[in-house]
Amino acid sequence: MRHGGKVFLVGAGPGDPELLTLKAARLLGAADVVVYDRLVSAAVLDLVPPGAARIYAGKASSSHALPQDEINALLVRLARSGRRVVRLKGGDPFIFGRGSEEAAHLMRHGIAVEVVPGITAASGCAAEFGIPLTHRGLATGVRFVTGHWRENQALDLDWASLADPETTLVIYMGFASLREFCDRLIAAGLSPATPAAAIASGTTPRRRLVRTSLDSLTESVAASDLQAPVLFVIGQVARLAQDPAEDISALLELAEHA
Ligand code: SAH
Repeated sequence: MRHGGKVFLVGAGPGDPELLTLKAARLLGAADVVVYDRLVSAAVLDLVPPGAARIYAGKASSSHALPQDEINALLVRLARSGRRVVRLKGGDPFIFGRGSEEAAHLMRHGIAVEVVPGITAASGCAAEFGIPLTHRGLATGVRFVTGHWRENQALDLDWASLADPETTLVIYMGFASLREFCDRLIAAGLSPATPAAAIASGTTPRRRLVRTSLDSLTESVAASDLQAPVLFVIGQVARLAQDPAEDISALLELAEHA
């Protein structure tokens, strides 16, 4: 690791520390300072050496612990101090969560950035509950979208293209806008009976799965009192969701009838 002038923008994965890449684990173990987000699990933080500084930059969608420009300025300062800086972000740093904005800011200030990919919530959560995000005959593709728009602005998405029965839709940060999201998809022509799953705290000991249909998703999620972070998977593949996924009877049944 070079000393000074560089920030490692590292994906922490969805929670389970065993889902870190070897590279992420190595960089964490050698860090002088780790700046981490709210979604980074305690089990991952346990891998930070006792002598390293940990700085919480956590963000909830509406109450930011540190405003983004302060996080940016902090990273620049730390990098210039010559310490080995790891910016640790939940999941993959380049899937939502503003990792690319931080990288651009650092580069504008002459600081080198190395991005270390992580397992994004969609992959971690889907694997855990046995949902193949694509599957021949059920989904020809998958789309990751954010349900969180800028403060006080309506969701500005291309609903007609999202309402595609052959594409799995994975919604990040969709808790607050879930009802609007489901209503708009149905209005755009997606069948209300489309299978849907909500996964809370995937790959952690607190993980929970709710499996339902698009038209009941909002009510089912409210009735189950799921706690953030929650990811939504909408599409035919969601009907394969099982807890625990080791029991792959749904997939087997599907394969046998293919
Ligand atoms: N960069 C992250 C996503 C950041 S956006 C990644 O690649 O995963 C934050 C959203 O991710 C949350 O609102 C939630 O929708 C989802 N998320 C992150 N971790 C999760 C987890 N363990 N279980 C369920 N959803 C999760």
